Amino acid sequence: MARNESLFREVNERIKQVNQHFQTDEEADFICECGDDDCTQPVGLTLDEYEGVRRRSTLFAVVPGHVEADVERVVEQTERFVVVEKTDPEAAAIAAADDPRA
Ligand SMILES: [Zn+2]
Repeated sequence: MARNESLFREVNERIKQVNQHFQTDEEADFICECGDDDCTQPVGLTLDEYEGVRRRSTLFAVVPGHVEADVERVVEQTERFVVVEKTDPEAAAIAAADDPRA
């Protein structure tokens, strides 16, 4: 499950880079970073909000309702997205090891 989240995190890093060129304060459509392999739902975050999620390698942005309560906890909840933190030690270790910014 954590592998999938890391994959979408890398996709979202590209999305962020593209949107950065437009210097916009509006939301960009990132991809939900939940653990469901089949989930490619858009999740709207401003670049500032996205940066807040990426500050820690164990944080992921998901669509509301896509929280896996047994391995992560909700850090922040808005109408558009939920920020979750990996609490499962194994998932957190993988998330940190695959961090594209590390
Ligand atoms: Zn999802």
